[in-house]
Amino acid sequence: MSDTWNTRTKLVHGGTRRSQYNEVSEAIFLTQGFVYNTAEEAESRFLKSGPDEFIYARYGNPTVAMFEDRIAALEGAEDAFATASGMAAVSGALTSMLRAGDHVVAARALFGSCLYVLEEVLTRFGVEVSFVDGTDLAQWKAALRANTKVVFFETIANPTLEVVDIAGVASLAHAVGASVVIDNVFATPVFSKAIAQGADVVVYSATKHIDGQGRALGGVILGSRDFIRGTVEPYMKHTGGSMSPFTAWIMLKGLETIDLRVRAQAASALAMADALQGHEKLSRVIYPGHPSHAQNALVERQMGKGGTVISLEIKGGQAAAFAFLNALEIVLISNNLGDAKSIATHPATTTHQRLPEEQKASLGITPGLVRLSVGIEDADDLIADVKQALAKV
Ligand SMILES: *Cc1c(COP(=O)(O)O)cnc(C)c1O
Repeated sequence: MSDTWNTRTKLVHGGTRRSQYNEVSEAIFLTQGFVYNTAEEAESRFLKSGPDEFIYARYGNPTVAMFEDRIAALEGAEDAFATASGMAAVSGALTSMLRAGDHVVAARALFGSCLYVLEEVLTRFGVEVSFVDGTDLAQWKAALRANTKVVFFETIANPTLEVVDIAGVASLAHAVGASVVIDNVFATPVFSKAIAQGADVVVYSATKHIDGQGRALGGVILGSRDFIRGTVEPYMKHTGGSMSPFTAWIMLKGLETIDLRVRAQAASALAMADALQGHEKLSRVIYPGHPSHAQNALVERQMGKGGTVISLEIKGGQAAAFAFLNALEIVLISNNLGDAKSIATHPATTTHQRLPEEQKASLGITPGLVRLSVGIEDADDLIADVKQALAKV
């Protein structure tokens, strides 16, 4: 792979490793282990294996390495470690970095499982965690301490789509020596410039836009080569959260088309947000890429586009939201996002059901709120579907 290649070229050819058969499509090395020609070779590989030498699939595998190199090229990271799921990536990144006595500052609006890792798991091992409103730099500043080792946030919060200022939080965190770890799913690797803006570690659920076709769970941790090979790899290879070669092949093929898909999805999301402005059945249309979003200037500076998800607040609460969902003909009711198929979710009764009512209210997860992940279908068809469903509310 040449460093001078542009993104789409890297996404098709980056990381390719060909076998002696010179196959066109990437091979799936569905093997758990690798044979050594001599005992001496085995000994030297265990002592120190090179970048294209493998020992055991939990440690690394050629198909998985192709995926890691290709996603690292997209993100502009030195290296990557692929994981079994997005949560294996979140928990692996955090647990590999932290020890008892460390302090973490995290944004309050988090994916439920991320909240569990921070509140229930890390604290059990003596890590202290403080939560702040991620959009308020003054709160980040006040919460940081001398022993703050990590700050953690989702760049765009689910499902209310508030945006955290990466460069702003990073300069505060770096001033006390803390690392910036971000869950960047909603920003997508296509629009992310997070490392250039100060993130030290970027984590994705590959289940979302990277697969983009709803087939497999996966995740990835991206960062400096020292961090990935020195901190993450020893932790992941010994604790077991590695990606399978078959999943890596699915994710590699997802990366070939991710730029085309995500740009088309973001364009449709913007068209939909625009078409629904001021709709009589809606009290709010939330899309970070639309000029009506309160943080649109930050979005423009930070990622250029608004991503692939819009949120709609339907007047009339849960009954109206359910009537809308049940009237959709193209958009599916489900809970994935970033998929080729458009998907609508009612967060208050599904993904965020567990949260106490007052916490839902403080996060803006109202009974009328619907999250809509915009797919690659024709934008006019999607807008017509949403409008006809709103007419039935
Ligand atoms: C889906 C998701 C995860 C978890 O990913 P899995 O692949 O389901 O484990 C973590 N963070 C965010 C923001 C997500 O959307």
